[in-house]
Amino acid sequence: MNHRRLRREIVATARQVNALGINRGTSGNIGARIKGGLLITPSGLPYEEMRPEDVVEMGMDGGVAGEGSPSSEWRFHRDILAARPEVGVVIHSHATFATTLACLGRGIPAFHYMVAVAGGNSIRCAPYATPGTQELSDHAVAALEGRRACLLANHGMIATGKTLKETLSLAIEVEALAEQYWRALQIGEPKLLSQAEMERVLEKFKTYGKRPASTAAAPG
Ligand code: 13P
Ligand code: ZN
Repeated sequence: MNHRRLRREIVATARQVNALGINRGTSGNIGARIKGGLLITPSGLPYEEMRPEDVVEMGMDGGVAGEGSPSSEWRFHRDILAARPEVGVVIHSHATFATTLACLGRGIPAFHYMVAVAGGNSIRCAPYATPGTQELSDHAVAALEGRRACLLANHGMIATGKTLKETLSLAIEVEALAEQYWRALQIGEPKLLSQAEMERVLEKFKTYGKRPASTAAAPG
């Protein structure tokens, strides 16, 4: 079996996504870049039952290596990886609060500075298209322009990142922001941060949590 370790990590991450309560049942899917293609969770198989060998290997042309049927959303996984060379992992989930906003066709504006964690001054909501279609993939790629996450109208959310760990953290944060925004909307109209302030925050995020090179290189 090729990519044994990555397959195991994909299954472990899929189980975490459910255990954390940001997805459930057979909803959602996870894809990770490999040379010339991607590994992707199979379609319609609950994460609890999924084994590493069930993860499907695909080429960038959509061709499947071996048996197994890839996630019905393989198009947006493939297209995001093709459009965004810096992305290594795509996580799609039907997280409750993100999906609630998406059902109203609402993205997440700059109501909190952490919105910048997704790469810009908002987390967009892509227009609705039928699940599994090229149209949905095109909408998702467009909504992700300059961003690491987006919502999908009447459907769910997508988070992207370099690694499974980083992408899972972003998915958790997007869901937390969606919940906070939703809660704030229950009692009023949240005050939005200005474009200038979000630009300052985006600048800070470029170095946030990164060890200075001098510290990283220091012996002992
Ligand atoms: P799959 O089981 O085919 O990955 O589909 C789940 C889903 O979320 C469709 O949008
Ligand atoms: Zn879905």
